[in-house]
Amino acid sequence: MKVIDGLHAFIWRDARTNNCNTYVIDGSKKILIDPGHRRLMGHVRSGLMECDLSIDQIDVVMITHGHPDHLEGVQAFDESKTLFTMSEEEYHFITKAMGGYLNIPEPVFFLREGEVTIGDCHFRIIATPGHSPGSVSIYWSDQKVLFTGDVIFKQSIGRTDLPGGRGRTLK
Ligand SMILES: [Zn+2]
Repeated sequence: MKVIDGLHAFIWRDARTNNCNTYVIDGSKKILIDPGHRRLMGHVRSGLMECDLSIDQIDVVMITHGHPDHLEGVQAFDESKTLFTMSEEEYHFITKAMGGYLNIPEPVFFLREGEVTIGDCHFRIIATPGHSPGSVSIYWSDQKVLFTGDVIFKQSIGRTDLPGGRGRTLK
């Protein structure tokens, strides 16, 4: 669904269709945030088709945090066409915690607190640990849109009982 000009959302329906909200920014660069589970990428592919986009046209995949239901789908992208980025702390945490199970590419650059510009879009990266130790929120300052990952849910907050989670930190 279109949220505003240049922003599409593929919203969570149920855990078998997708298990996170995926967003696509359609600017001078095509930016996809949180692709979700690899096995549920059909949901993302059909959402992209509705926006007249395809997975091969995505320039950058940004990840809010490393839980597989947000991150794993990065495996479906062609590394020669799509850059992949997430927080350095989260990348090291999740690759260590998941051992060899989660086979993901190394990020081309890391999301660090502060400003980052991709194409004509300006973002501020904000560390928001607690649900996961290296979780970041991505603030799209041009449009005043905040992508929080699992920091907040509809009428709730992210769970803190997974490895590395801490309620006091999230609060
Ligand atoms: Zn999560």
